[in-house]
Amino acid sequence: MQARPKVWGNLLAEVVRAGLCTRCSACAASCPVDAIEMIGPNGDPMLTGRCILCQICYHVCPRTGLSISEAERAAFGRVRGPEEILGICISAYSIRARDGELLRRCQDGGAVSALLGYALDSGIIDEAIVVDRDEKWIPIPRIATKSAGPSAYAGSKFAIAPAILKAKEAQLGFPNSKIGMVALPCQVQSIRKMQSSKFTYSKLSERISLVLGLFCTRAFTRDGIGKALSEAGIDPKAASRIFARGSELRIRVGDGEVSVPIDRIGPHLMGSCDYCTDFSSELADISFGSTGSEIGWTTALTRSKLGEELVKGAAESGFVECKPLGEAGLRAIIEATKKKRARDSSKYLRP
Ligand SMILES: Cc1cc2nc3c(=O)[nH]c(=O)nc-3n(C[C@H](O)[C@H](O)[C@H](O)COP(=O)(O)OP(=O)(O)OC[C@H]3O[C@@H](n4cnc5c(N)ncnc54)[C@H](O)[C@@H]3O)c2cc1C
Ligand code: SF4
Ligand code: SF4
Ligand code: SF4
Repeated sequence: MQARPKVWGNLLAEVVRAGLCTRCSACAASCPVDAIEMIGPNGDPMLTGRCILCQICYHVCPRTGLSISEAERAAFGRVRGPEEILGICISAYSIRARDGELLRRCQDGGAVSALLGYALDSGIIDEAIVVDRDEKWIPIPRIATKSAGPSAYAGSKFAIAPAILKAKEAQLGFPNSKIGMVALPCQVQSIRKMQSSKFTYSKLSERISLVLGLFCTRAFTRDGIGKALSEAGIDPKAASRIFARGSELRIRVGDGEVSVPIDRIGPHLMGSCDYCTDFSSELADISFGSTGSEIGWTTALTRSKLGEELVKGAAESGFVECKPLGEAGLRAIIEATKKKRARDSSKYLRP
C-alpha cells in the first residue's frame, strides 16, 4: 500500500504543535506556492495561502526526521567514523580579522564577517545572508552583496532569524546566484535536509553554496532578549553587545558592562532547544564559536574542502590571521559537545 502523503497539516501536528519547531523557516522558504509565512506569535510558521499538497514542507523539515549519515554523504561525500567526536573536521583554527574597525564591532574575532567578505570578493558566493537586529534585539535577516557588506552586520543576535526565507528572496531576485549563509546548527540541519531530501524546492537548495555555522547552546525566543533585558532593568535600546560567559550574560551598556545570571532568563529561551544535540554546527562547511579560543579570536572548524580552501584563501589574501587551535581549545569544544548530546533528539534524529 502506498504511504499517505505528508503535507502542511502533518507538519503542524507533528512539529509545530508538538513544540519541536525551531522557527528555522525552511518550510516557508521551500513552499513552491508561498503558502507558509513565519508570522505566528513567536515568528512560527503558519499556513496563510492555498496548500497544493506537494509534501515539500514536511520533508525538508529536519524535525520530521533527519539522518545524519545521509546529510553527511550529501554535504561531505562520506560519513563520520566513530572516532570523529566533533563530526567530520579537516582542521581547527583560531582566527582574527585584520580589519581594525570590524574587530571593534564583531562578536569574537570577526572571522565570520571577514570570511564572508573574502567569499564575496573572490566570487565564491554572490550574496550572503546575515542577521541584523532592531532596537528590541529582534533578529532581522539581511542580504549582503559587497565584500564590505557583511561587516555591517557583525555581532551575535541571540535569537533565531528566518534566514532561509531571506535566502529565497535572494534566489528569486538573482536566480543563478551562489548564496552563502550564516546559520545556527538547527538551520544548518535544515539546509542539509533541503539538499538531501527527494521532496525539495531545488531552485533554492541548489543555490546555497556555502554554509557558515555557529556554535550554539541555546537561543532566546524572537522577542525574548528584549524582555529579559527589560526585566533586568536594562533598556534594550542601550545594550550595544551581549556576550554569554559561563553562567551569566554580560551586556555592554555605554562604556560599562552589566551581568545577568542565565538562570533568570529561562522563561525567555526557546523550548525546542531542549531537543537539540548539535553544539558545533556539525553539518556546516565551517563552524565558528568563541569556545576554545582566547578572547578576541574566533574558533573555526573546517569540515568541507570548500571550507578549508576559504580559510586558507582569506589568510593568504590578508582578510584574516589564522593559527592552529591548541589541544585545550579542542578539549573545551568536545566537553560542550558531549554536554549538549545529553539532550534528547530521539524524536527526529537518526544516525
Ligand atoms: C544564538 C547564538 C548562540 C551562540 N552560542 C554559542 C555558544 O554557546 N558557544 C560559542 O562558542 N559560540 C556561540 N555562538 C557563536 C558566537 O557568538 C559567534 O557568533 C562566533 O564566535 C563568531 O564570532 P565572530 O566574531 O567571528 O563573528 P562576527 O564577525 O561578529 O559575525 C557574526 C555573524 O553571525 C551572524 N549572526 C548573528 N546573529 C545570528 C543569528 N542569530 N543567526 C544566524 N546568524 C547570526 C551575523 O550576521 C554575522 O554574519 C552563538 C551565536 C548565536 C547567534
Ligand atoms: S522547517 Fe523549521 S520552521 Fe518549519 S516546522 Fe520545521 S523546524 Fe519549524
Ligand atoms: S503547498 Fe506543499 S510546501 Fe506548501 S504548505 Fe502545502 S504541502 Fe507544504
Ligand atoms: S540550541 Fe539548537 S535548536 Fe536551539 S537555537 Fe541553538 S541550534 Fe537551534
